[in-house]
Amino acid sequence: DVTTVALDAWVRRFAELIAQERDHLTELDSAIGDADHGANLDRGMTAAVASLDDLGPAGAGPMLTKVGMTLVSTVGGASGPLYGTLFLRMGTVLGDVPSVSAEQLGAALRAGLDGVVARGKAQAEDKTMYDAFAPAVDAFEAGLKDGLGLADALGRARAAADEGRDATTPMLARKGRASYLGERSVGHQDPGATSVALLVAAAADTLR
Ligand code: ADP
Ligand code: MG
Ligand code: MG
Repeated sequence: DVTTVALDAWVRRFAELIAQERDHLTELDSAIGDADHGANLDRGMTAAVASLDDLGPAGAGPMLTKVGMTLVSTVGGASGPLYGTLFLRMGTVLGDVPSVSAEQLGAALRAGLDGVVARGKAQAEDKTMYDAFAPAVDAFEAGLKDGLGLADALGRARAAADEGRDATTPMLARKGRASYLGERSVGHQDPGATSVALLVAAAADTLR
């Protein structure tokens, strides 16, 4: 089962990857947005890690809820409410428990994805974070259904997220700032799809 210690490591690993990739994310957002995605998420995840330090030992749900609340309050723009909702929904689904099963983690990821859709109304091929996260959640669930263990199912999710991220390059943006560019959004990898693939990679690195 996935313990709160592992979930804590997931959040911290995501923060670390965002800090490492901050300039790259900003570069991607400068091509089809306003060049702040790296800074937005780095500020948010640095605050999220600090909020977990303040929180101290807590159950799975309260931890992820804390992260979501911190993201909503520290990240502006589109990604703050979207990532905030993703974590808040996961927190709600998991509840105040010391560990969760792989199936419960899958339900939480699904609820997080549903939250992103409820908030931003993105569909497949709108060139958003949805295009990397939805295939990852699908692949994780399919992996568990095929009898894979947590680590292998997360490995499949990571590959699906990376593939989904890469597939955003030829897409025409239909949501968010990039949609203002119309045809000029084609040929650029989506920043949000890139960052959410890091969230999935961080899960594959840390959840056992
Ligand atoms: P902003 O566009 O407000 O500056 P960010 O640069 O932090 O916000 O985030 C941009 C990312 O947010 C995009 O690359 C895209 O993946 C994601 N995004 C934007 N609008 C939506 C939406 N409606 N649904 C899902 N994701 C979205
Ligand atoms: Mg931006
Ligand atoms: Mg912005």
